[in-house]
Amino acid sequence: MLTIENIIRTRRLRWAGHLSRMQEERTPQQIAFGELETGKRPQRKPKTRWLDVFKKDLNEQSILANEWRNVASNREEWRKRINSGVLAKQEMDIAKAKVKRHERHLAEEEFIWECPVCNFKKEGRTGRQYVNSHIVQAHRDLTTERQSQQQNLQQNLPDQIRIHQSCP
Ligand SMILES: [Zn+2]
Repeated sequence: MLTIENIIRTRRLRWAGHLSRMQEERTPQQIAFGELETGKRPQRKPKTRWLDVFKKDLNEQSILANEWRNVASNREEWRKRINSGVLAKQEMDIAKAKVKRHERHLAEEEFIWECPVCNFKKEGRTGRQYVNSHIVQAHRDLTTERQSQQQNLQQNLPDQIRIHQSCP
């Protein structure tokens, strides 16, 4: 299942293939790819935004700018190449995000927490579980509504701790 962003990316690449297969003299193609053909961006022309995005697409798909039209000339080949390429990119992005999340977890293990009520301070790898038991045990009697007191203290935890708690 592709994300919306990757569905749009797929359609942009397909549209590029469609334009590429059109006759050379047709205007939309000249406008879209004129720059790629010459290899240089005309000095005075304003930025061709669509083309910039398309170039990035090609780069992400590891398709060379001077080779993509060979592949795109075959409609079916181009479609397959794009579909599998965009899906692979998406899976790679997910994998990268997992690594980042893991790194965040490691970072948050080195945290410092100071109780807003007393002088209790906890830092280090096992800090989080001490914080939770501190809240439950040390401040049980501060309010008749223990639950709301806990929630109140929990809100003072750093963001990273909250992220960790909601993470599978
Ligand atoms: Zn305390």
